[in-house]
Amino acid sequence: MSRPAVLPLVIAALVAGAPVLAQVARPPAEQALARAIYKEFIEIPSGFTTGATTPVAQAAAARLKAAGFPDTDVHVDGPNPRKFNLVVRYHGSGARKPILLLAHTDVVEAKREDWSMDPFQLNEKDGYFYGRGVGDDKAQAAVWIANLIQFRKEGFVPDRDIIVALTADEEGGGPFNGVDWLLKNHRDWIDADFALNEGGWGESVDGKRIVNDLQVSEKYVVSFRFEVRNKGGHSSLPVADNAIYHLAGALDRLSKFAFPLKTNEVTAAYFKQMANTETGAVKADLEQVAAGSREAMQRVAKSTTSWNSTLRTTCVATMLEGGHALNALPQLAAATVNCRVLPEDAVEYVHNTLRKVVADTAVAVNLIGNPTPGPSSPLRKDVVQAVTNATTAMWPGVLTVPIMVMGATDGRALRAAGIPTYGIQGFFFDRDDIRFHGRDERMRVQSFYDGQAFLYDLVKRLSRATPAS
Ligand SMILES: [Zn+2]
Repeated sequence: MSRPAVLPLVIAALVAGAPVLAQVARPPAEQALARAIYKEFIEIPSGFTTGATTPVAQAAAARLKAAGFPDTDVHVDGPNPRKFNLVVRYHGSGARKPILLLAHTDVVEAKREDWSMDPFQLNEKDGYFYGRGVGDDKAQAAVWIANLIQFRKEGFVPDRDIIVALTADEEGGGPFNGVDWLLKNHRDWIDADFALNEGGWGESVDGKRIVNDLQVSEKYVVSFRFEVRNKGGHSSLPVADNAIYHLAGALDRLSKFAFPLKTNEVTAAYFKQMANTETGAVKADLEQVAAGSREAMQRVAKSTTSWNSTLRTTCVATMLEGGHALNALPQLAAATVNCRVLPEDAVEYVHNTLRKVVADTAVAVNLIGNPTPGPSSPLRKDVVQAVTNATTAMWPGVLTVPIMVMGATDGRALRAAGIPTYGIQGFFFDRDDIRFHGRDERMRVQSFYDGQAFLYDLVKRLSRATPAS
């Protein structure tokens, strides 16, 4: 893959110095509105299986209508009465295609007895907000709504429509994913030039902000079943042709295999930026990785599992089954192999590679399910520049870092449907204290209000005819 033409812009804005403005918080009344919406959302149980997203969509719709949004611009709908989504359109001049602001309203389950407090109350304590969804993803949902209400109040006329979609069932899959449903049933409601979503947040260490992540792509998941069938027989008469031995050999070869190391547009930009946060030999290695050095990639991949996963497709055995009796030769031996695939690597490529690695015709390598690769979003100059400048304006010295993540968000479905999606929040979390999906999920109070101001500024930069970005 060729070096991206836009990459130097990421750096240019940092090194040459974008205009540095004072950090600007939103006025107290706007903060109070965002907090009230946040509290309302958190206190509606919307657990993936035990809750419902419809009341969240309805609460948002009520807020919008009370603020003057006409009924015709506010849709509350979905595939199932418990799984409704909200879509609202704020009309601009129409000079450019709309932008879509996305957040999911379902949360991972949280049990009262697993927490030190009620997960479905917004608790403010010691400078933190606590509650299920305070980080994932109700902060962004609340901020999108609060800021849209503020835009209307100001009479702000964007040069494009601004669409906010609060959607169901991002967590844990299931048949009622809101983005999926909207793409299939009401694509016109959400069709956009590009989308902003969760998936990229700010990273801090001991409260000091280090980098603001811009999530541009995601690995996708493919699983395979290695399967060996054999006629079996009595264990007192063993033969060399044994299903378990065939499988064991295949897994041993897999354990010694690694996919080639490489970078793509996004990960090269990532390593280039990360070099700016390091010193000495690590800094030099990261710079060389960004420039395409294989030797440096070897060293960097060896140094941490996360950099290894950033630099290659990975496949690992995760489940095992086989045999049916302690005194019988196995008739079946099988393993599940789970792969996290770089966006540019095709399913067929991974499948064929595994067949070669297995190198045993007795071992069938079967694809599980029907995986859909998720393309990267392009590192669009307008988006990267606006994010970089909004970051520098809020937090001078904090680097904007394009990232590819190992997990998946709704961004994958949008990208596959041709809507480039960027994970950007401006909410900062301590690197060593990420509690999404876990116990006592929390977000710094300051971080919530900073994110509100950041996203307010960012959306304006992206929707003004003459962006001051
Ligand atoms: Zn989420």
